Amino acid sequence: MKKQLILALSWIVFLSPIARADEGMWLPQLLQQLNAPEMRLKGLQIPVEEIYSANKNSLKDAVVLFGGGCTGEIISGQGLLLTNHHCGFGQIQEHSSLEHNYLRDGFWAKELTDEIPCPGLTATFIIRMDDVSSEFTGLDALDENARNERIKAISTALEKKASEGNRYEAKVRQFYAGNTFILIVTETFRDVRLVGAPPSSIGKFGGDTDNWMWPRHTGDFSLFRVYASADNAPAAYSPSNRPFKPRHFFPISLAGVQPEDFTLVYGFPGRTQQYVSSFQLKTTLEVNNPNRIAVRTRRLEIMDKGMRSSEKVHIQYAAKQSSVSNAWKKWKGESKGLNGAKAVQRKRVQEVEFQGWVLKDTARQRRYGSLITDYAELYTRNTPYLHANDFYAEAVMGVEVLSFASALRQLMDAYASTPGDTAILGKEWRSARAMASDHFKDYHRPLDLEMTAALLSIFDQSVPDSLKPAEFLSLRARHNADFSALANQLFASTFLVDSAKTLKCLNASPKTAIGKLHNDPAYQLASALMGFHKARIAPAMNAFNARLARLNRIYMAGQLEMQPEKKFYPDANGTLRVAYGQVRGYDAADAVRYGYQTTLDGVMEKYKAGDEEFDLPARLIDLHRSRDFGRYAVNGTIPVSFIATNHTTGGNSGSPVLNAKGQLIGTNYDRVWEGTMSDLLFNPEICRNITLDIRYTLFIIDKFAGARRLVDEMDILP
Ligand code: ASP
Repeated sequence: MKKQLILALSWIVFLSPIARADEGMWLPQLLQQLNAPEMRLKGLQIPVEEIYSANKNSLKDAVVLFGGGCTGEIISGQGLLLTNHHCGFGQIQEHSSLEHNYLRDGFWAKELTDEIPCPGLTATFIIRMDDVSSEFTGLDALDENARNERIKAISTALEKKASEGNRYEAKVRQFYAGNTFILIVTETFRDVRLVGAPPSSIGKFGGDTDNWMWPRHTGDFSLFRVYASADNAPAAYSPSNRPFKPRHFFPISLAGVQPEDFTLVYGFPGRTQQYVSSFQLKTTLEVNNPNRIAVRTRRLEIMDKGMRSSEKVHIQYAAKQSSVSNAWKKWKGESKGLNGAKAVQRKRVQEVEFQGWVLKDTARQRRYGSLITDYAELYTRNTPYLHANDFYAEAVMGVEVLSFASALRQLMDAYASTPGDTAILGKEWRSARAMASDHFKDYHRPLDLEMTAALLSIFDQSVPDSLKPAEFLSLRARHNADFSALANQLFASTFLVDSAKTLKCLNASPKTAIGKLHNDPAYQLASALMGFHKARIAPAMNAFNARLARLNRIYMAGQLEMQPEKKFYPDANGTLRVAYGQVRGYDAADAVRYGYQTTLDGVMEKYKAGDEEFDLPARLIDLHRSRDFGRYAVNGTIPVSFIATNHTTGGNSGSPVLNAKGQLIGTNYDRVWEGTMSDLLFNPEICRNITLDIRYTLFIIDKFAGARRLVDEMDILP
């Protein structure tokens, strides 16, 4: 009863306009127009033009898109970049081996020359973001294909103009579900090197158990450095490159936070869906999340078991396991939160209100009259495909030999479609070989064998026969639906699970290799499954997505029109945003109240010697015992993490968390369990972002690792 009451109360507060204020991932160039008074009221002490300016140096010049999907921040005049351990994890894993196990032991470059190049890793700065919507007129009358073509043509021209004669790149992106267009000009650096990382026992402390949870004690950070040419411009890796001199880097404040302090998160949130229909939410809850969670639960059981079997397998699968489990756990929390909040019903109420508003006006009826029934019809018609698509993506592609074979197949198709062009052929061929070497570096055949049996069986049970290829059905019949037998036979007869044989094949002439591949049973099975997906599932999904995009665009326009006085932020789409809020604990359940901060003492309380997730390095235990905390101590311990009401999502990982003066106080790394549904529905009473306190980061760099040279290049304020 009481629990329900608390929840009910939290939602009443949630619906009041004041409480909603923390929601939002705002466009930095619109802060002046939309947010400045409120930010000041909440405590911001600097002018908003210092946060974003297209003409003058501003805080945005120290925020980078790190790789494809994380954020990083520049913290020294020599391009030193701070991000999460889980964002650098792939790189740390990539450079780890049994001889140099950086995952286990951590890594600290002693000098600049020890910093490790990371081919393929990029750091992208935002130069400016301009609203170019006025260039995109007359689109409404076009059908979806014609509209997309027109958008592409206008965008290409704008992008070309913005990047001509300079070293920038430019891209037009759509916001508010395609109702607004913004040209984003960027500068991308391609020589980014690994500088330092704590051992996983610190950087991933708490593992899957603590992930997406509060209270949290993970030292989730790693350090990189951006390198540039002699004239400080982006350049491909070269030993002669120099540390990049940024336009701005964050000074670091050791002052820490108190409850209710203003905080700001500046970064690249990946994807939110705040304005979608009840139908979409229902599909997430009843189709996508359960499907994906079920497959990944099995995948993780098999991976975890394999990883426990040897240190080598542990290194090989560490990054893969993390990425599978991170989303798996989030979806679980998200479903729990959305169900608890009765999110679908809430959306339905909004839709009823919307329809009432539509009915009041004939122009509105013309535009929005059929919207809700169109949504209903679209989802009813396509749910079988949405369902099957999940299992192709998660179960079929979760089998490594099949995903590897289908990647090879794509290269071979590209090869076959470009006969005679030796330049292209050479490139495809080299990339096939490079891909194969990468794949086998982290491949453990017995693990994949078990995975194949398990996932193909799940696929078979979950997808109707009408949505499977005939080849799969006859293979199943040949083995009497015994998928262990099927997997064993497949592995005994394919050469694609053997590194030496595969490379030998790819080293032969393309013609011979293609002939061999076409006769390989794993290649054949992957081709059949992916061929079927391409022919039957993908077209349905593409048509569905195009129609959905159109309906979502119309619904978004309707919501904007219906509430002209309301400030709307666009859904996250991997572009630069500002979230702001207050340091604050929360009530998680009946009689469960969480404080805002964790400390090193709490790390020690969780310590379990020899445990996979909660073990700690002896040196950290010693430092704690001797209270050797240097200047980072507060009340005889080290602050580790704190929570605040900032609205964040994946992609905000690694984002700078700033105080009211724009100084760095921490690095964003996660959200709390009760609030993981915030991508779809934000409740400021319980949604919190988790920040790694900069003082724990500095303590680890300085006292634990003794990497003084790094601390010395930062600007640290008391
Ligand atoms: N830890 C999260 C992630 O990895 C960050 C977030 O979503 O809040 O995606």
